[in-house]
Amino acid sequence: MTSSQNCPCGQGQYAACCQPLHLKQQVAQTAEQLMRSRYSAFALQQIDYILQTTALGQQSALDRAAIADWSQSNQWLKLEVVQHQPKLDKTHALVEFKAHYHDGTQAHIHHEISHFVLHQQQWYFLDPTLDMQITMKQPCICGSGKKFKQCCAQFI
Ligand SMILES: [Zn+2]
Ligand SMILES: [Zn+2]
Repeated sequence: MTSSQNCPCGQGQYAACCQPLHLKQQVAQTAEQLMRSRYSAFALQQIDYILQTTALGQQSALDRAAIADWSQSNQWLKLEVVQHQPKLDKTHALVEFKAHYHDGTQAHIHHEISHFVLHQQQWYFLDPTLDMQITMKQPCICGSGKKFKQCCAQFI
């Protein structure tokens, strides 16, 4: 893939879209932009980017091999952002999307409503699938310093 090619997320040239985020030259300004760049990272097997844009306290629970396998074993066809709610509260946002992919046998649509948290001017994905057994009184996984219950627990 060269920089002049279309970005997997569908928003123009890769060099002017998700590449600067993948190269850490820029950070996503919105949850939607982060979501798009994560989709593109799946399409381009930028596994580190997937890991690093997940909530800080969840990164250690991610299964890198499984993510890499999921990324590689599918062909990522198209991303459709259905809705973006940029301010659920001061630091949380919602993006609903459909990721179209082909698993080699048939085409699928992965439809998801994802939540994101803003921490120190950077957006992170809140992964609802991780079994982390966080208690409600523990410090939040996003790094906010608030109790989990009063912060991201409402969005996972
Ligand atoms: Zn893009
Ligand atoms: Zn939080």
